[in-house]
Amino acid sequence: MTLKPLLTLLQGAFLMFCMITAAQNSDDNFRERYAATITAEDLSTLLYTVASDSMQGRMTGTEGQKMAADYLRTFYQNHNIPPAPTMEGYYQEIPAEYFTRMENPVRSENVIAYIEGTELPDQVVVLSAHYDHVGMDGDTIYNGADDDGSGTVALMEIAEAFQLAKEQGHGPKRSLLFLHVAGEEIGLYGSRYYTEHPIIPLAQTLCDLNTDMIGRIDPLKNGNDNYIYLIGSDKLSQALHDLSEEVNNRYVQLELDYTFNADDDPNRFYYRSDHYNFAEKNIPVIFYFNGVHEDYHRPTDTPDKINYPLMAKRAQLIFHTAWEVANRQDRIFADKLSEQKEQN
Ligand SMILES: [Zn+2]
Repeated sequence: MTLKPLLTLLQGAFLMFCMITAAQNSDDNFRERYAATITAEDLSTLLYTVASDSMQGRMTGTEGQKMAADYLRTFYQNHNIPPAPTMEGYYQEIPAEYFTRMENPVRSENVIAYIEGTELPDQVVVLSAHYDHVGMDGDTIYNGADDDGSGTVALMEIAEAFQLAKEQGHGPKRSLLFLHVAGEEIGLYGSRYYTEHPIIPLAQTLCDLNTDMIGRIDPLKNGNDNYIYLIGSDKLSQALHDLSEEVNNRYVQLELDYTFNADDDPNRFYYRSDHYNFAEKNIPVIFYFNGVHEDYHRPTDTPDKINYPLMAKRAQLIFHTAWEVANRQDRIFADKLSEQKEQN
């Protein structure tokens, strides 16, 4: 081999390396640019409305819950984020009969918005948060700012960031479904209803990233304004767990705490929010959670007590994770499940 073809080969390889690096860098730039549109200020503005007294604690089936649903629908309309393909509007009606353990069953609704993927639109990443709360006790309003006003407005901001990316030609390859569920506080009804009546078939649902309480600091973490608890990430899909760690290391650098992910955790948080209905159907999940605090399920869970900069950082982690699942080359699967099957 003479020197000349070797040089050409090396030059070619170098050029290829530069191109890949450039593509990676520009993708990095876009991700970070859109993630940065999720701000403490925007989250605060939205949360002061969602958790305002006028929403009357958002108890499933009440006027306050309907007002919150309407607020979500209007937000998506105003941002040109459409409902899911087969839906006539943003509401997925849940019939009264479905609420079997409710004293006086009334119908309710999940609110669903959708961003269609540009290359693999049939595959969907679900992002969920419950927008209902526990309502009122006499004249006392349970505002539910952290639970789960925080998850509700995080989803709105994440959707807005992805929609902006799409409008600027950087939309996700796979689709995203923003699922605001009702009936969580009275028994995880809305998410169960969705998984029994999915808008996109569950076989094409890659994961559920569920956000329930991300605006506060657990007293056990007193003074730590850079952590989040992750629950469930490695239970069904190692690929999901690994990419979640990777995007966090690369873009966000939060301290990911897996304390409550332990199989023998006495709090059993894994079973206590909406992602569990997806996990039960073998869909990989991550539950994003700040832990409980003195205002949990009290009238004092109000928007003035939220740590907005921390909440923005946590929402950005969820954004980056969704971006990675939606845009990476290989789709993720419940790979641990197939491993278990092979072993049996
Ligand atoms: Zn909750």
